[in-house]
Amino acid sequence: MNIRNHATGGRWMAAALAFAMLCGCGGQAKKSDAFEAAEAEDSVATWDVEQIKDNAGDKLMPRALFPDASDALIDSLSLQDGVPSSVSAFWVEAPDGSGILFDTGLGAPDSRLLKGLEAEGVAPSDVEYLYLTHLHGDHIGGMLRGDTVVFPRAEVYASRAEYEDWMQMPAERKAQVEKTMEAYKAHLHLFEFGDTLPGGVVALEAVGHTPGHTVYQLGKLLIVGDLMHGLALQKDHPEICATYDMDKAAAIASRKRIMQYASDNDMGMTGMHFPAEEGVE
Ligand SMILES: [Zn+2]
Repeated sequence: MNIRNHATGGRWMAAALAFAMLCGCGGQAKKSDAFEAAEAEDSVATWDVEQIKDNAGDKLMPRALFPDASDALIDSLSLQDGVPSSVSAFWVEAPDGSGILFDTGLGAPDSRLLKGLEAEGVAPSDVEYLYLTHLHGDHIGGMLRGDTVVFPRAEVYASRAEYEDWMQMPAERKAQVEKTMEAYKAHLHLFEFGDTLPGGVVALEAVGHTPGHTVYQLGKLLIVGDLMHGLALQKDHPEICATYDMDKAAAIASRKRIMQYASDNDMGMTGMHFPAEEGVE
C-alpha cells in the first residue's frame, strides 16, 4: 500500500508531507488493531484523495485566534499576518469504489465546493456517503442550500457523541445543526468511535475541538478535521489552541495523541484547515 506515492498528484500532499517531515519522533509503539486492519486491506488498495478548497482566494487564520502563542513565537515563525489556512472538504474514492465526501465547507455564496467537485467529475447526486468530522457551520454549511438538500443520495455519518451533545445545546446555538440534521434525518447514521464505516474508513476519537470531534483513517492517511487550525504553528506546538476549541485540555490531548499515532504508524495527515497547495478555482 502506498497512499503517499499514490497520492502524488493529490492536493493534500504538501501539507501531509510537511507533517510527516516533522515527525522524526517515530517510536516503536504497538500498532492499533484498526491500523493493522487498514494496513492489511490497503496492501491491495488505493485511495484517491482530493482536497477541495471551499474558500475563494487565500485564507489566513488571524493571529488573534491563537492567544496562547507568544509574540516571540509568532515572530520567529513569521506568522504576524496570520497562519496560512483554508476551508476545505475532501473527496475520496475508496478502494471498494465508494464515493465519500468529508465535510462540506461553509455553503457561503462564494463557496467553491460544488465547483471543485464538478472539476473532479462529481455531481452532488454522485455523493454516496458524507462523513462529518463535527457539526460546526464551516463543515456542514454546504449540506443545505436554503431549505434544499444539496446531496440527495448521501448517507450521512457523524459521531453519536457529537450529535447528542449538540442536541442538548440552547435552541439558538444549535439552530443550523438541528435544521441540517433534520433535513437529512432519513439518511443519518450515528457511529461510535472505533467503528469502521462503509469504504473501510475508521472513525477515531479526537474530541476537544467539539464534544464528538472525529478523525478519519483511510489506510495510511488521517483526515483530521479541525485538530489543527494553524498547521505552521501547531505542528510543533500542539499545546497551542485556537479559540474555536471548545474544551482546550481535551483538544490538546487529542492533538498530541493523534500526532503521535500518525508518527508511530508512518501516516500522513491532512485537515479541513490545512493550506491547500493549489485551490480549485
Ligand atoms: Zn472548522
